[in-house]
Amino acid sequence: MHTPTRRPFRTGAALVATAALTVSLTAARAAPDGRHHPGEPPRSPVATGFGGAVASVSPYATQAGLDVLEHGGNAVDAAVATAAALGVVEPYSAGIGGGGFFVYYDARTHKVSTIDGRETGPAAMTTNFFIDPATGQPLAFADAVNSGLSVGVPGTLMTWATALDKWGTIPLRKALQGGTDIAENGFVVDPTFNSFTAMNQARFSQIAPTAKLFLPNGAPPAVGSVFRNPDLADTYKLIAKDGPGVFYHGVLGQEVANTAQHPPTVANPTMYFRPGVLTASDIAHYTAPVQAPTHVNYQGLDVYSIAPPSSGGTTVGEALNILSNFDVSPSDQVQALHLYDEAARVAFADRNRWVGDAAFNNVPVRGLTSAAYGKDRSCLISATSTLTSPVAPGDPSAPHGGTTCPAGAPGGTEVAGTEGLSTTHLVTADKWGDVVSYTLTIEQTGGSAITVPGRGFLLNNEMTDFDFTPVHPGAPDPNLPDSGKRPRSSMSPTIVLKDGRPFLAVGSPGGASIITTVLQILVNRVDLGMSLPAAIAAPRASQRDRSVTDAEPAFLNLPQIPALQALGENFVLVAPSGTPTPEIGAATGLEFLPNGEVQAAAEPARRGGGSAMVVHPAR
Ligand code: GLU
Repeated sequence: MHTPTRRPFRTGAALVATAALTVSLTAARAAPDGRHHPGEPPRSPVATGFGGAVASVSPYATQAGLDVLEHGGNAVDAAVATAAALGVVEPYSAGIGGGGFFVYYDARTHKVSTIDGRETGPAAMTTNFFIDPATGQPLAFADAVNSGLSVGVPGTLMTWATALDKWGTIPLRKALQGGTDIAENGFVVDPTFNSFTAMNQARFSQIAPTAKLFLPNGAPPAVGSVFRNPDLADTYKLIAKDGPGVFYHGVLGQEVANTAQHPPTVANPTMYFRPGVLTASDIAHYTAPVQAPTHVNYQGLDVYSIAPPSSGGTTVGEALNILSNFDVSPSDQVQALHLYDEAARVAFADRNRWVGDAAFNNVPVRGLTSAAYGKDRSCLISATSTLTSPVAPGDPSAPHGGTTCPAGAPGGTEVAGTEGLSTTHLVTADKWGDVVSYTLTIEQTGGSAITVPGRGFLLNNEMTDFDFTPVHPGAPDPNLPDSGKRPRSSMSPTIVLKDGRPFLAVGSPGGASIITTVLQILVNRVDLGMSLPAAIAAPRASQRDRSVTDAEPAFLNLPQIPALQALGENFVLVAPSGTPTPEIGAATGLEFLPNGEVQAAAEPARRGGGSAMVVHPAR
């Protein structure tokens, strides 16, 4: 394990200049795994110790959060600082042009709270928003992604301001400092950043400010080169000076709206970016409400996650409630994997039918997360065969006795996934015992491909998380676009308590596969007895009520595969859109160990490997 390099915490703009770059460059040394790139802070996927912890996909971002902890900040302060740094080093997954969901455990009140920072549909959005008036047909997904239409009101900056205001100890300007330093001084381009840029090259080349920023000299920044984003540094400084109002009620909001309405294409573009309808008034009306988490009890543990508009909390929760009715144990790995797949399959059937923005639909959250409903649904699952997808959704609003298996109903609808490896998850904890689990996104890797001119950040394409047309013919679709509505998410930032104290915090990117990744990590850790790092590293599969189950190459090589196939499971190599590698998720997590230590864990390999650090490493 690396001892994290310390660098001074800078509290004022005058101290910004060179310290970050000097220290991070001198920290350069080759890592034994060969993945260390000269100039990066040390990158280690696991750290164990005391005094607080941070894990994220990037050593720069983890270090930014750790700096805040080391200077007396709490978990919320560190989470915002880490997120602000991710906006710089992971600009294709996170940033103030996007949204996300923040889960917070308060050690004083022992309460879990959440912030809904989801992007919101413009006032002019209608249910047929993604229907091409020229043809009467839904737009091709890529045409919607690469357009101003897909841009929703960003919620990330409001999330940061709200979190700091309610639970933090430092002002926003201090939380932005680490990210500002990195944007100004630069970070070393690693193969992931390079390949994510290359993957987006065709569309990035169509938008003038995006091409200028991310395709210097017409090509993706070279591995090992230093990437700077002075425009974003200036944007963070402007927000530091004027507060989030400069975004929601000021010049930045006006520019965001104007950019969505008039995508700034290059001269003679070869792709058509449809103009959007987002207005400064939409942005001025944005709110990031604090809301109650979802809750289920699994194996005596209290599992808290995100309520609608995310489907994360209800779907992970329902799958756990289903699994509660079986013996999931390491003594029968075939059954454990089979039950994991089947529970996810059934939970997804309900998710696809019932979950959308609860301000627009009566989402049966209570039923979906009730133990009795999980028991009812569990009787669909057989130890000796695999369900045929699509599975008919149940009725979570009906009374549940948990005694009879519901009669077979007509099948549901298989929903094709469009999910990739975009989005990013971070976890933080402090010495007082507060914990944050925070997932943030701009939707696709690279969002809408539209950078706000002169501001250094990409706009989201989150509106493409709406269903373009009703998914279940004849049944109302809770996830159709609408004015002021939030699209259904799958983000599942989760905090697990044991006897009322933090035990685990976990989350991941990966579109709808976020749900199965979080579920699989919980099953690996809680039922199969793996350590948290092993639970995160283990090969993944993702069943989402489809005829096939996506699987990573390493999963397809598991010795249990033939027996699972004999049960009827149909695994295919995952082919996520938006990533060059066949991976599912890029998780980070924390475990609070019985001896008072905290273990921070990130991916050892996926997405190039993540970064975990603790304030006082255990010897
Ligand atoms: N937009 C997705 C969601 O909210 C996340 C994007 C991804 O992880 O690919 O569920």
